[in-house]
Amino acid sequence: MSVSQLARSIKESPTLKLNETAARLRDKGEPVIHLGGGEPKSKAPIDAVVNCSAQLNTGDVKYAPADGLLVLKKAIIRYMEEHYHKVVMPENIVVSSGAKQSIMVLLYAILEPKDEVIFPAPYWVSYPEMVKLAGGVPVVVTPEDGTFQPTVAEMAEVVGPYTKAVILNSPNNPCGVMYTRDFISEMVEFCEKKNLYLIMDDLYNRLVFEGKIPPNAYDFARDHTDHSRLAVVQGVSKMYAMTGFRIGWSVVNRELAEAMTNIQSHQTSGPATPSQWAAIGALNGVQAGVESLRLTLENNRNVMVARLRAFSGIQITKPDGTFYCFPDFSAYQKDSQKLAEFLLEKVRVVTVPGKEFGMDGHLRLSFCGTIKDVTEGIERIQWVLDPNAPNELYLGERKLVRDWM
Ligand code: PMP
Repeated sequence: MSVSQLARSIKESPTLKLNETAARLRDKGEPVIHLGGGEPKSKAPIDAVVNCSAQLNTGDVKYAPADGLLVLKKAIIRYMEEHYHKVVMPENIVVSSGAKQSIMVLLYAILEPKDEVIFPAPYWVSYPEMVKLAGGVPVVVTPEDGTFQPTVAEMAEVVGPYTKAVILNSPNNPCGVMYTRDFISEMVEFCEKKNLYLIMDDLYNRLVFEGKIPPNAYDFARDHTDHSRLAVVQGVSKMYAMTGFRIGWSVVNRELAEAMTNIQSHQTSGPATPSQWAAIGALNGVQAGVESLRLTLENNRNVMVARLRAFSGIQITKPDGTFYCFPDFSAYQKDSQKLAEFLLEKVRVVTVPGKEFGMDGHLRLSFCGTIKDVTEGIERIQWVLDPNAPNELYLGERKLVRDWM
């Protein structure tokens, strides 16, 4: 084998692979409905586009500092004050090429070989692979009561001498659940007591429904010194629908920021300057787009949940935020990979198998597409699975006849 053992231990990103399969089928003219996506449909805010293009027009596009442009850091400082009531310095911020790199570079900076990183299931697909890439060992905690809300006792149970960090993603990709205030506050206290890094992946915390307020980890921190091991990761990808710009950031203690900057400087250097200009525009510009995206997503969620609830045998937890829902389909098929392949083959609906998020039997369904995608997608899934559904379904001109039940 010519590739390393490490390379062999890393799986392909299932979501990116699904996007490719869907695109290939679409190119062939197949009526694919994509419920596997991880990005809002809306456009980048106009302020992002204008700020980026104005600077681009000068033709002066040079390296940025490895930890990001100071003007962007100033915009992030304002963001942190407004949304976290937290005063931070430019030296506490590292801007990276997407929140993905923020987390990756953070893990590189804190993990010794074999150090363990704990996170609850279901988890974002990249956490286990990122921890392995950084030489660590992922440790998954699956809530025993069958909900998506872990308890502090369950998390504490797996803490050992090698535990270095905990990652919490709330609201959560893939289940949309927001962890309770009590859980976050107790985890902050627990990690401080055990001297563990607590990485809050807050990427979706502006996309929360029904006026719910995402708990702010800083509110519960006792350690406000510059040795705090609380790290907040944010980015423009989801809230501003700017996935392609690849800008994320971490807020960490100075020593850690310096270490992360050094690593990043040899890895990618600073993030692309045009993308940083766009992020500055988004952060400093009119914020109406975030609220309008949030409202659209809330409406889509309501439609998706209502449709799924009309479907017998499926267990569904209503998402508090994000644009994902994670129903349990195990009454129909326990192997989520097989189920996702079946849905794609029979009715051309793309979903992501729950196995990838550490929970088989579930599928991740995105509601970030159009309302038509949501309704038609669920209708097709219901038709293909529900034995009581009519025997025929039309996909455009094509008549499908159910011949497998
Ligand atoms: N964390 C979570 C939970 C995510 O869902 C994603 C993107 N799917 C990321 C981090 C990475 O985001 P970015 O596009 O900014 O790299």
